[in-house]
Amino acid sequence: MSNSLAMRSMAHVWHPCTQMKLHEAQPPIAIARASGPWLYDVDGKRYLDAVSSWWVNLFGHSHPHIKAALADQLDRLDHVMLAGFTHAPVVELSERLGALTGLGHAFYGSDGASATEIALKMSAHFWRNSGRAGKSRFIGLAGGYHGETVGALAVTDIAIFREAYAPLVRLAATVPSPDARGAQAGESAADVAGRCAAALEAWLAEHHEQTAALIVEPLVQCAAGMAMHDPEYLRLVRALCDRYQVHLVVDEIATGFGRTGTMFAHQQAGIRPDFICLSKGLTGGTLPLSAVLTTDAVYQAFYDDEVARGFLHSHSYTGNPLACRAALATLEIFEQQDVLTRNVALARTVSDALAPLSTHPRVRHARHLGMIWAWDVETTLPDFARRYHHHAMARGALLRPIGRTVYAMPPYVLDAEAVHCLAQGALAALEATLAEEPRSP
Ligand SMILES: *Cc1c(COP(=O)(O)O)cnc(C)c1O
Repeated sequence: MSNSLAMRSMAHVWHPCTQMKLHEAQPPIAIARASGPWLYDVDGKRYLDAVSSWWVNLFGHSHPHIKAALADQLDRLDHVMLAGFTHAPVVELSERLGALTGLGHAFYGSDGASATEIALKMSAHFWRNSGRAGKSRFIGLAGGYHGETVGALAVTDIAIFREAYAPLVRLAATVPSPDARGAQAGESAADVAGRCAAALEAWLAEHHEQTAALIVEPLVQCAAGMAMHDPEYLRLVRALCDRYQVHLVVDEIATGFGRTGTMFAHQQAGIRPDFICLSKGLTGGTLPLSAVLTTDAVYQAFYDDEVARGFLHSHSYTGNPLACRAALATLEIFEQQDVLTRNVALARTVSDALAPLSTHPRVRHARHLGMIWAWDVETTLPDFARRYHHHAMARGALLRPIGRTVYAMPPYVLDAEAVHCLAQGALAALEATLAEEPRSP
């Protein structure tokens, strides 16, 4: 029975990003199985996974190619520690990620937040090894999100995630976000990029001697509510980071693997970062795995006879063979099915179906990039997101707005029925939610 599983979960499972008391009114939904873009609950009701299970799923659930690769790997090697040992999946994955990005040294973790921590530690340690230990501070963007462990919170500028832990966090500097919605009268998105880069430059001019790295989510700040910016911003910050000798870390944890239309978002700006953080879609949404890719220059600064100059960071499951194999299978799907080209056509179909939402009189800043769509809703409801989510679920669509921003980030495998469910569900949920607004006198 669905209820008993939900009740047992509430008794013993502490759910993430959740005020557990809210589950008194609305218990968690027990999912029994999943296939393609669909989740099936224990009563057999299905939901379109229109947020790709928190942005991790790429090719639908239970994908046959990834499943077969995992079954094969399970027969060969489940796990071995990566210190002092290596194995084919981690070697092949590192080679392929290097070929895809031009950053040929891969260090592994299990979650996005640990990738952030690894990149920040590596950057500061690089400067220390280079005789510039004073360069140990970081810069992030307003509204940035890079995970929620204590180190990652330093560069995560989202109050509700950080406030309670403020005394624990060594806060990074925050520079203005190039969010194109912030355009002033007559400004283009590229103008906003230029203005925000100028603010970064002012900060760097004064503080570069203390600064190790700037971390950015390229093109889309997802957790901020799908805030999108012009690629020009990335070109400008690359030039500034070069001029002031500060590392550029691009956090592609959400934007990587085709989400923004290119394999990696920063590629649309034609830049080469010093570090790339990957996770989420890396394994197609099957297993936790993260990676930090970096350059020969960074790698060489650690390569030494002295042990302490090495990067001694570790996680028990670093480079887990099963997770690496799932990642390899994911990259194979990209190659074999020409996913990026097919997504262009799919995105056009989805955009057409979503047009009534984009032109809805209460929607502002309808925006789209690759396989991400977002709409800001003008509403007086303070709990808009919770109400909308409830109405969308009732219509078979898993959509979870961020504040007053409704967004869709579906897997890349939507057929006509799934597109219809998404478009109808998203629009009907909006109407149903707005109908609950108190009438103005
Ligand atoms: C989700 C996310 C993270 C954190 O990843 P976890 O696996 O949840 O720790 C970091 N950066 C970005 C851009 C993300 O979207």
